[in-house]
Amino acid sequence: MAEISLQFPDGNQKQFDENATAKDVAQSIAISLAKKAVAGKLDGKLVDLNAPLKHDGKIEIVTANSEDGLNVLRQSVALLTKVALKQSFPEIEFGEETGDENGFYIDTDKADGQVSADSLPAIADKVQGLINQKLDVKHESVDKAAALKKLAGTKFEAKIVEDSDADAFDFYEIDGVSVLATGVSFDNTGAIKFFKLLSVAGAYFEGKSSNPMLQRIYGTAFFKQADLDADLQARQEARERDHRVIGNDLDLFFVDPKVGAGLPYWMPNGATIRRTIERYIIDKELGDGYEHVYTPVLANLDLYKTSGHWQHYREDMFPPMDMGDGEMLELRPMNCPSHIQVYKHHIRSYRELPLRIAELGMMHRYEKSGALSGLQRVREMTLNDGHTFVALEQVQDEFKKILQLIMDVYKDFNINDYTFRLSYRDPKNTEKYFDDDEMWNRSQSMLKGAMDDLGLDYYEAEGEAAFYGPKLDIQTKTALGNDETMSTIQLDFMLPDQFDLSYVGADGQDHRPVMIHRGIVGTMERFIAYLTEIYKGAFPTWLAPKQVTIIPVSDDKHGAYADELRKQLLKAGVRADVDHRGEKMNYLIRDAQTHKIPYTLVVGDQEVADKAVSVRKYGEQDSATMSADAFEDVVLKDIANYSNN
Ligand code: ATP
Ligand code: ZN
Repeated sequence: MAEISLQFPDGNQKQFDENATAKDVAQSIAISLAKKAVAGKLDGKLVDLNAPLKHDGKIEIVTANSEDGLNVLRQSVALLTKVALKQSFPEIEFGEETGDENGFYIDTDKADGQVSADSLPAIADKVQGLINQKLDVKHESVDKAAALKKLAGTKFEAKIVEDSDADAFDFYEIDGVSVLATGVSFDNTGAIKFFKLLSVAGAYFEGKSSNPMLQRIYGTAFFKQADLDADLQARQEARERDHRVIGNDLDLFFVDPKVGAGLPYWMPNGATIRRTIERYIIDKELGDGYEHVYTPVLANLDLYKTSGHWQHYREDMFPPMDMGDGEMLELRPMNCPSHIQVYKHHIRSYRELPLRIAELGMMHRYEKSGALSGLQRVREMTLNDGHTFVALEQVQDEFKKILQLIMDVYKDFNINDYTFRLSYRDPKNTEKYFDDDEMWNRSQSMLKGAMDDLGLDYYEAEGEAAFYGPKLDIQTKTALGNDETMSTIQLDFMLPDQFDLSYVGADGQDHRPVMIHRGIVGTMERFIAYLTEIYKGAFPTWLAPKQVTIIPVSDDKHGAYADELRKQLLKAGVRADVDHRGEKMNYLIRDAQTHKIPYTLVVGDQEVADKAVSVRKYGEQDSATMSADAFEDVVLKDIANYSNN
C-alpha cells in the first residue's frame, strides 16, 4: 500500500497510509488530541478531519482552542446556515461564502423576495434546531466535472467552480441536504457552539458592479458565550464609530452609487471640516518651507508611460480618454509626474535644494467596487501631497524633517495610536517592482538607517513598497479594526532617472536629485473618515462644522439679541448659528447635543439685560453664565488649542 510522509510542527517526520486522515494522525499522537481535534491543516490549508490526506506535507492538528479552530467553527456555522436556508427556501441560490477571523458570510439570491434582516431570527432558530439534533456531517470530495454536475442549473456556484483552478471540490451533506463548501466543517452539528446571524447587506457577485447584487448574510460564532458577547459589544461600538453612519447623521457627505460609486459629495458640514484641515495643513507646510502649486488632473498618457505608472500601476488607473485625434488623455492616479513637471520647468541649482513642492492634489484610482467604503476608500480623492527634490547627501536630514512634521501634525489632531511600517519591495515580483537590485538595496537600507538613528520602533513588510521605491508608512487602525496607511514617506531614485532630472551642483556640473514623496495627513477623504471615527463625530471645536449654537428662550423676545451675538462671534471667526425654530427649549438643547455642537448658548431675559450668555459645553451637564465677551475669549482659546484639551 502506498504511503505518505507527514512532517509535524516539531520537525519530526512520520509515514502514514495514503488514506490516513487528520483524525488518524491525531489518534497516532494521543487519543485526547483526537478528541479535541476539529480539523487538520496540511501545508497551511485547512482540511476536513475525515478526508484522506493523500499526499506528503506538513501536518498540524487543529483544535478548538486556536484561531484555526475558530475559523473551522465559523465555516461550520456558515455551512449549516446554508442548509437551513435551503430547507426554508428550496429555490435559493448561493454565491460565495467564507468563515475567518472576522466571522462568516454567505451570499444568497432569491427570485421571490430576498432574505432580509427580518428573516434572520427564524433562520437562526432553524440553525439552532439542526445543532440540537446533533446530526452527522457527511463529507464528500469530488472532481470538477462531478461538482459541476451536482451544481447543474445553479447561477453562481457553477460559475465559482468553473472559474476555480482547484482539482477537488467539497460537498457536505447534513439532514439530507448537500451543499458546496469552500471551508471545512465539524463532523457533527452538535459541536457547534454559540453563533449569531448579524446582518444582511448587498454585495455584487465576484465584487464586480456589472454582476448581479446578492444578499450577503453576516454572522459570527465562538466557543464561549462570553467571547460572543464581547464580540457583539465591540461590533456595536464599531457601528457607533462608523464614519458612514456618523457622516449621514451629521450630514457630512454622501455617496450615491447611481451617480458614481466611490465619488463622494461633500455637504456643507463635511466641506467645512475639510476646508479647515486644508487651510491648516497648507499653513503648516508653508511654515516648513514648502511651496504650494496647482496642477491639472488630466495629462497626456505619455506622461504616465514615462513615469512607469502605465506599465506598473495600470490596474488602478481609469482607462485613458481617446480624444479622436490621436491624443490620449489620462486621469492621474498620483501627482508625482505633475510635480516633476514643475521641477523641470526651470534649470535648478543646488542652492534651491531641498526643493519642496506641495499640493492638495486631486487624483483618481479605479478601486474595485467591493473595496469602496464611504470616504475611507474612494475613486476620486485629494491627497495632501508633496515632493521634495534633494541632493543625495540631504536625504536623511530631509526624511527626519518630514517625520517631525508628521509628528507635530498628529499632536494637533491628538492622534496617538499608530505604528511605523517600513514597506519594502517583494524581490520576486519583478512585474510590479522596478527591476534594479542596487537601487532597492540602497534605498531600503537608507530608510532603515534613518529609523534606527531616530531610535523608533518599526516593523518591516515585504511587497508593500511603491513600484518606484520603498517607504515608511504610518499605520493607523480604523474603527472596524482594519490597518490603514495614513502618512507615508517614500524614497525614489527611479523617477528622477526616468525624467532625466538634474540640478547644477557647486562644481558647475549636472547632478541627479533624489525625490522624496510624502503625504502628511494622506487623502482628505481617508483622513476625515478616520477623524470621524476617533472623535465619534464629536469634533474638537476647531474642526466642528458648527462651533456654537445660540438658543433664545423665546424667539420673539430674545431672538434679536441672539442674532447680535452671532454677528459678534462670526466677526471673530467663530462658526455660530441661532436656532430660530421656536421649539421647546429642552428639545433644542437635546438636538444641539445630538449634533455634537461644542457650545450651546441659551439666552433669556437675564442674559439680554446683562449682555451675557449661559454656556453649556458638549458632553457636560452644567452650564455657566458669563459675559458675551468672556465667552468669545473662551471659544477662541479653545479653537487655537486644536485638539489638545
Ligand atoms: P492603499 O494601500 O490603501 O491602497 P496606497 O499604498 O496605494 O494605499 P499611496 O499610493 O501611498 O497609497 O497613496 C497615498 C495615500 O493616499 C495613502 O496613504 C492613503 O492615505 C490615501 N489613499 C490611497 N488610496 C486611497 C483611496 N482609494 N481612497 C482614499 N484614500 C486613499
Ligand atoms: Zn509621489
